[in-house]
Parts: sequence; C-alpha cells; structure tokens
Amino acid sequence: MSEEMKHCGFVAVIGAPNAGKSTLVNQIIGTKVSIVSPKVQTTRFRIRGIAMAGQTQIVFVDTPGIFEPKKRLERAMVSAAWMGAQDADLVCLVVDAIRGRDEQTRAIIERLKTSRRECFLVLNKVDLIQRERLLALAAELNERGVFAQTFMISALNGDGVSDLEKALAARMPEGEWMFPDDEVSDLPQRLLAAEITREKLFHNLHQELPYALSVITESWEEKPDGSARIELTIYVSRDSQKGIVLGQGGKRLKAIGQQARRELEELLDRKVHLFLFVKVHDRLWEDSTQFSEWGLDFDV
Ligand code: GDP
Ligand code: MG
Repeated sequence: MSEEMKHCGFVAVIGAPNAGKSTLVNQIIGTKVSIVSPKVQTTRFRIRGIAMAGQTQIVFVDTPGIFEPKKRLERAMVSAAWMGAQDADLVCLVVDAIRGRDEQTRAIIERLKTSRRECFLVLNKVDLIQRERLLALAAELNERGVFAQTFMISALNGDGVSDLEKALAARMPEGEWMFPDDEVSDLPQRLLAAEITREKLFHNLHQELPYALSVITESWEEKPDGSARIELTIYVSRDSQKGIVLGQGGKRLKAIGQQARRELEELLDRKVHLFLFVKVHDRLWEDSTQFSEWGLDFDV
C-alpha cells in the first residue's frame, strides 16, 4: 500500500493592476484573503493564501502588480513582484481580456520570456467579452511562445477556475507541505481579519498613508459562546501617522473598527469582538514580522 506523494509549490500571480489577481486567488482559496478593491495598488503582501488540492499544497504569491514605478515605494513593490515571479514554481499572468493587449501586458510578456519560468496565461473577465474577440486575443498573446497553457476564466463568477486550479496542482513539484494542515485552515481567518481591517483603513484614509501601514492579527480567541475575540495591531511608520489613523478623540479608528467588525461578522457568520491597536514601527517596509507570523522564512 503506497501513500500518495505530497506536492507543494509557489504560484506567482502577476499582471497589471485591476486585472483580477486578488479576485482569482480569493476564488480559489474560497475566502476573502486579499483585498479586492476598485482602487489600484492595494495589494502589498506577498503571500495571499494556500490551496489544498488532494495531497498538493499550492502557495499563492499575490503581487502588488507590475506597472511603471514612479516613486521609491512603488519601485520596491514592483521589484518584490518580479522577485516573487522569480522564486515561484509557476507564474500566472492574469490579463483583463477587455483591456486586452496593451503596452503594459506586452512589456510583462517580454520580461517573462527572459525569466524562463513556466508560465500560464490567464485571460480573465470572460463574462464581459465575446468569444471571437477572446480567441483572437489568446492567439495574439501567444505569439511570443511564452505560455505553456492558456486559460479563459471569470475570476468573479468562477467560470474556468477549477480547471486552472487542477492544472496548477498538476505542476507543483514533489515535496513536503510548507504549512501544516491545521495552520492552513487557521491562516485564512487570521489573514481575513487583518486584510478586512486594511481595506477599511484604505477607505477611511484618503492619503498616501495606507502604503505605510501594516496590519497584523495578534490574537484570535474562541469564546465559549461561539464568538471570536480578535486583536489586531495597525503598524504605522511615524508618530504623526498614528494621529491620522486615530482621528480626533479616536473617532476614525472607532469607525474603522466598527466597519471591519460588521463585515467580519457577516463573513464568519458569528459575533466578533474586535480590538484595534495602533503602534509606531519604523523600517516597516523591510520588516519580516508579517511573514514570520505565518511561519514562513522569507530571507531566501
Ligand atoms: P487586482 O488588482 O489584479 O488584484 O484586481 P482585483 O482582483 O482587485 O479586481 C479588480 C476589479 O475587477 C474588481 O472590481 C473586480 O471585481 C473586477 N473583476 C475581477 N475579476 C472579474 C471577472 O472575472 N469579471 C468581471 N466582470 N469583473 C472582474
Ligand atoms: Mg489585488
């Protein structure tokens, strides 16, 4: 009697802002792990979630989006995105089929050609496009011979996503899982709490500030009455930013907390006690706290 071999690997999800990367990862993971926002550039962390397909563990690396960097932080984000692609076992380029073949996508494909990683082309938002146009786009984007396979999906309604997931799983190399079974089930919830809070921060702070924020789930306690007590810390890089997040008399933070709690209660279908703290933390960007909390070693 032989046990089925375990497989595990990284999949980097890259593509222009708003292509639907976060929506796709969320669809596969089955819970809202990444921030999905009509605003661009909200995704910062590199690990988005883990999917189990039989004995195969797929670790998704969602990227901040590959675009023309202008500011320093943006450059750092883009280089992190490409680094993610370099480390991955497989790269998924998500393309908004409506936007089609723009300069950005063309540039990404050229760069992928030199990276020599195995790449899948994922044409997204097929719910919005006619079949002939879609096929023409697929043919055009395949001209450079970069992609091993092409998928046509709707990340939003899930069409074609399970085929993509199966193909991804089939390409993951043999190896031990990076996350133990029980952590995989726990991780999405903790990420969820942090990401929802981040999302509310974005919507309530209308400055550049959100990029300098990091939200970490410090504790998650199951209460006998079925509710969850969750403590989150919002890290900012300067004292002045702390004041902005708090607002006058702590009003803004209170509003953010209420919005986050309401959404969490809805998603988790249970009562939530949410506690938010704001702390100042310099060198936030290089910090590895987030990764170590998830049990990952990112000093590779
Ligand atoms: P990201 O920046 O690549 O992570 O893109 P998001 O996942 O945040 O999606 C950007 C926008 O496109 C959101 O408003 C999504 O709801 C929308 N979107 C994503 N996938 C689809 C899809 O398959 N069909 C449609 N109609 N909209 C989608
Ligand atoms: Mg995103």
